[in-house]
Amino acid sequence: MSDSHAGAHPDVDELSTELGSRLVRDPELIEPYALDTSRAVSEGAPLAVVLAESTADVSAALAWANRNRVRVSVRGAGTGLAGGAMAYAGGIVISLERMRAVIDVDVPNRLARVQPGVVTADLDAAARLHGLFFPPDPASARISTVGGNIATNAGGLRCVAHGVTSDSVAALEVVLADGRVMRTGARTRKNVVGYDLTRLFVGSEGTLGVITEATVRLKPVPPGTPRTFRAGFAELEDAGRAVTAIVNSAVRPEVLELMDALSVEIIESFHPSGMTVPAGAMLVGQTVGWDAQTQAEAITAMCRDLGADDTEISETDALLEARRLSNPALNARGLKISCDVGVPVAALAEVFHGIAEISARHGKRVSTVAHAGDGNLHSTVESPDTPAGIREADAVIDDITRLALALGGTISGEHGIGSVKRHELGWQLDPVAIDVQLAIKSALDPLGTLTPGRAV
Ligand SMILES: Cc1cc2nc3c(=O)[nH]c(=O)nc-3n(C[C@H](O)[C@H](O)[C@H](O)COP(=O)(O)OP(=O)(O)OC[C@H]3O[C@@H](n4cnc5c(N)ncnc54)[C@H](O)[C@@H]3O)c2cc1C
Repeated sequence: MSDSHAGAHPDVDELSTELGSRLVRDPELIEPYALDTSRAVSEGAPLAVVLAESTADVSAALAWANRNRVRVSVRGAGTGLAGGAMAYAGGIVISLERMRAVIDVDVPNRLARVQPGVVTADLDAAARLHGLFFPPDPASARISTVGGNIATNAGGLRCVAHGVTSDSVAALEVVLADGRVMRTGARTRKNVVGYDLTRLFVGSEGTLGVITEATVRLKPVPPGTPRTFRAGFAELEDAGRAVTAIVNSAVRPEVLELMDALSVEIIESFHPSGMTVPAGAMLVGQTVGWDAQTQAEAITAMCRDLGADDTEISETDALLEARRLSNPALNARGLKISCDVGVPVAALAEVFHGIAEISARHGKRVSTVAHAGDGNLHSTVESPDTPAGIREADAVIDDITRLALALGGTISGEHGIGSVKRHELGWQLDPVAIDVQLAIKSALDPLGTLTPGRAV
């Protein structure tokens, strides 16, 4: 794979003639497209932003960039936390924000065909008009796009019941790095034709192709009124043990999240919702269906058996809303250095024990929120916003990441690798696996046009 890029004087006018006002070159207007929500540092301004309105626009932009050896970054809403959508200096950004139509909802087959720039919560709302819903539910659902969710294989609050984004994707339309358009998957429940290219593009973080349309799976909205439950624990590790017990029991919570005491205190002071700060941790979750109350009672009883000293069941969503605010709340308190690791769910108590040890060893406070039912943790280190402070916080995060791996876990549960985690790739993947990943990248994008140097 070549990484040579002309950079110097590509003929942008040629692309401008093709795209007209959909190609933006005004430095002030393109500035907001340089960064995403990660802490990756900008390498400089892009040449231009393509505000694509069709597959043809994306194809034209990629064909031009590939011919002229111009690096391309791909952008949904820019809420990514791994630096995958960051612009390249002298590159172009392909933004999908204008391609935001829900093309159709196929009720009998429980499918929706959407453009990639549709906001996740808008797709969910469109499905709910038909008694259906879109299962993936990242905490960013109101600000992120379905294309971005697919490209990162996003997780979220309802994954414990419905799986991650890949479990809800049936088919894709993708534009390859050289501008060719292809389709993957099928509208059927079963489809065993060739390699599973749909799964290959899901989670590929803009490195293999630009998703220009997706056919996604919907589910029927469960009947009855959901119940939200919470359980406060004096010991964080007991909360971990309770999660393991719940996911291995016959009850099926729709949501099972954990916030440690520091996170609850920070979220509550950011947006008071009457949460009592526990000494150790709080589990919050939701049950659905006609037996939602019975299931919530079974879960809170299990929690009390395993050490919870304060439980509650309610019909409001307030606690889950609070959990969704963890990112902005932590950021407002200056907690920005965080990780996204996963462990097998039975290792939760052990990972919490280890994080406490790491926190004590480094003398740094660490807050942890978790999509606990999936064993997916986001630990954030309190640190001053100085180069030394960030280095020290990074050392804590490195130790937590290595701990997760030692427990059979992963360096990313849902945010992806992007640019900020690329140095960790070799911690998890063996050299042969990395070779295979690079071979796939090279086969689809031999000139290294599309999101080069990231994700793999
Ligand atoms: C407050 C907050 C809460 C969050 N909660 C969660 C959570 O619960 N779960 C979770 O998984 N993540 C979460 N995130 C991270 C982020 O929202 C997700 O990664 C999301 O999927 C990114 O969507 P986006 O549209 O913003 O994509 P972007 O940030 O624009 O892009 C993300 C990656 O996808 C690629 N990409 C985007 N669109 C396309 C496309 N059409 N074709 C090909 N590649 C594309 C980009 O190149 C980039 O590599 C959260 C972020 C914030 C700020």
